[in-house]
Amino acid sequence: MITIKDLSVKYGDQDKSVPVLDHINIEIGKGEIYTFIGPSGCGKSTFLYVLSGILRDYEGLVLVDGRPVDPKRQRIGLILQNYGLLPWKNVRQNIILGVKIKGQPREEEYFTYILKQLGIEQLLDRYPKELSGGQQQRVAIARAFLLKPDILLMDEPFSALDAINREEMQALFLKIWQEHNVTTVFITHSVDEALYLGSKIIVFSDAPGKILGVYDNPCFQLDNLRCRDEYYNMSMQLRKILDKG
Ligand code: ADP
Ligand code: MG
Repeated sequence: MITIKDLSVKYGDQDKSVPVLDHINIEIGKGEIYTFIGPSGCGKSTFLYVLSGILRDYEGLVLVDGRPVDPKRQRIGLILQNYGLLPWKNVRQNIILGVKIKGQPREEEYFTYILKQLGIEQLLDRYPKELSGGQQQRVAIARAFLLKPDILLMDEPFSALDAINREEMQALFLKIWQEHNVTTVFITHSVDEALYLGSKIIVFSDAPGKILGVYDNPCFQLDNLRCRDEYYNMSMQLRKILDKG
């Protein structure tokens, strides 16, 4: 569904440009969660900006269902680390912002359903500053799912949360995702998160980012994942690859 061929990105002027992504090749299939893991500064966010259509200055080919990325044609849900909420809008307004911008019809029933799944139906009149980090992240997730996106792009969305909240959000996200099966690109720098959330795992090298490996995740959706041998083994394998990269 998403085809990426020889994607390279440089920042800066031509004579002193810095390469950030180096010949990325990958096919991202429908209905899977791809977790991309790599060290800080290797170009993960840049990769997501290209996929979202925000960054257009790149070399190579990026196609969604055979066509160039176009946020007007494809429904793309974007969830960022800092939640991306507007401080002067309340929760309700923040959640419907996405469909409003897109001019999509608002589906009241679905809206209520998503709120309930995320447990934020009591927070509609609050403003972002009156919410905890975890609550803000739930609002951002509600906004993205309300769009019924074809592609969900997430850039280290849970990294600002403390460990307990983070695990709770990961589990909640996975539960909601299972009902929608939306094609998801999830950026992380946590081995644990990559293993918990990814049906496929892609490892990026140090900057400039290259793909070191693409793995089917044997741990995906296993019960009590974090206590199992598969988890330990994959975790060691990924850490070794990251260390060498
Ligand atoms: P990551 O998300 O993996 O930490 P980024 O994609 O944010 O990495 O950044 C990759 C590299 O590109 C970093 O060295 C960063 O400093 C640099 N960079 C990011 N954005 C810009 C920009 N707009 N102009 C110049 N350099 C940038
Ligand atoms: Mg980043």
